[in-house]
This record gives sequence, structure tokens and C-alpha cells, in this order.
Amino acid sequence: MSSVDKSNPYIPLAGVAVDGWSKEDEATATCFCGAVQIVFPTQGPGLVETFVCNCTDCRKLTASMFASNFTIADTHLKHARGEDNLTRYGQSKTIASGNTMTNYFCSTCGTLMYRRGSAFPGLSICRIGTVDDFNLHETKLRPRVEQFTKDRVGWFHGVKGIRQVEGSAYT
Ligand SMILES: [Zn+2]
Ligand SMILES: [Zn+2]
Repeated sequence: MSSVDKSNPYIPLAGVAVDGWSKEDEATATCFCGAVQIVFPTQGPGLVETFVCNCTDCRKLTASMFASNFTIADTHLKHARGEDNLTRYGQSKTIASGNTMTNYFCSTCGTLMYRRGSAFPGLSICRIGTVDDFNLHETKLRPRVEQFTKDRVGWFHGVKGIRQVEGSAYT
């Protein structure tokens, strides 16, 4: 057992903005340059799911080897600022089901804030790494599911102790 207390906010310098916050049931996520900031619930029903995705799309899109996501109901997602500074890019070519996934990037710094999929109406798939309170990455937003394990890079051995799904966990 770790003796480090993760229950209080831990907001390190990460990106340019210094106004991120975290309360009992709500917190912020901010892009790298600070132009875009969203406010989201840290518990249900607004917080729908938390998951890691290893799919080829996520690997390319994040310029990393997997994406760490949390899904928020759009009815519970607020933009503190910068909604008009988001650039949209959507396509369906790489989505196995033929659905379109649209990605919302900060137009200034390029941070991917969330994706919306035609197969998942009313939901925004946000990025755990953009959440300002880093302790939330390990507590309320800790991934519950890991999907597309068939596409996982060989040197990553997966997230221990959570449900593993070879393909999509949500179709
Ligand atoms: Zn930005
Ligand atoms: Zn993916």
C-alpha cells in the first residue's frame, strides 16, 4: 500500500494555464496552451466510463501507443472557455464499423480534447491526460477497461487488474 494520499487535488505545472481546479464532484481539463478548458463531473451519471484504448487509430491520433479516455455525457460537459477555438477533424475510413469519429483539437496548441462518434450519440470521449488534477488520473478516472488489446504494442503489458477486451468493448 502506498502511503501517499491521493484524495486531495494535485495540480502540477503542466502546460501554460494555472487556473485548473478540482472539487468534490467536478474538475477541469485544459489544453497545453490554456486556450481551451472544459468542466466535467467526476462521478456518475455524468461520468460514464474510463478506459484505455490500444487501437491503431488511437495510436496514430495521440502520437503515442495508447489513449487514456474518460467518457462524459454531453448534458454534463461544460466549456469554461475556448469552445470556438476547437478545430474538428472527422473521418470514417479507419473505424471498423463505418461510423464517423470526429476529433476536437485546440486550434492553437493541437491538444486533442475529446472525440465524438456517430455510434455514441450524446457522449464525448475526453482525455485523462488533459485533466488538471493529476491525482484524479489515479483515483476517480482510473481506467476500468482496456480495449483493443489485439493492437497493443509489444513492450506495454497492459493495465493490471482491469477488464481486458480484444476488440471494442462498446459495440
Ligand atoms: Zn491549446
Ligand atoms: Zn482507440
